[in-house]
Amino acid sequence: MTKLGVPTILGIPFDGHSSYLRGAGEAPGKIRAALHCDASNHWTEGRVDLGRAGAYEDAGDLAFSETIAFAVIENSIAALLDRGKRPVSLGGDHSITYPIIKAVGRHYPRLTIFHFDAHPDLYDEFEGSRLSHACPFARIMEAGLAKRLVQVGIRTINGHQREQAHRFGVEVMEMSSLPAYDRLKQAGPVYISFDMDVLDPAFAPGVSHREPGGMSVREAIAHLHAIEGEIVGADVVEYNPVQDLAGVTATAGAKVLKEILGKMISG
Ligand code: MN
Ligand code: MN
Repeated sequence: MTKLGVPTILGIPFDGHSSYLRGAGEAPGKIRAALHCDASNHWTEGRVDLGRAGAYEDAGDLAFSETIAFAVIENSIAALLDRGKRPVSLGGDHSITYPIIKAVGRHYPRLTIFHFDAHPDLYDEFEGSRLSHACPFARIMEAGLAKRLVQVGIRTINGHQREQAHRFGVEVMEMSSLPAYDRLKQAGPVYISFDMDVLDPAFAPGVSHREPGGMSVREAIAHLHAIEGEIVGADVVEYNPVQDLAGVTATAGAKVLKEILGKMISG
């Protein structure tokens, strides 16, 4: 059992910085429902019983108006950290990871981020916005909020984002070069940011930007299980219920969430 604080779920129903489709703001409740669905039990593959009293907590969903969303997100994450909790955020679009990491990076100055995504999300700006869900990791790295950023499953990188990755020293593990288990070991604080579109659309059609050629759920779990480090926080983002088919993506998201929680608890 780790000495780190109890993992605490926080729903962040924000999709105001999505570039193509809205809908990710409806995700938190649906992932929660899949997590608690009686179709499965509460044990993780790593042999952790999430049904044990106190295994994790749920702080519910944030409420905010869009104009002040980022301030509310940053302050809420900071408050959880100050209370000794480890925030596990359910998006929402990927833009929320910037205000989350503003709080986490201040709390843990030598943070490593393991970022699962089809997209590098490193645009300096996208369609006129520097806060777009296509930009959070550019903001995080230029602010020096992480010492190491490892991206896994990337398969859409363009020239601009390759320059950005070089500029910030990002380790981009493209889908074609996986597995990348050895890159997921780091002494010290680790944060996991899991964009559901890292999964192949065959496994997770409920995303705003379907990108074929992605991970199976099994490959994603294998990479999550390979992580070594003190996991101090995580997010699961970009599930879009509007795009889902029969809830299969919510179930995949809940499975990923379970294994992340299990890793946080078992170390
Ligand atoms: Mn993303
Ligand atoms: Mn993505």
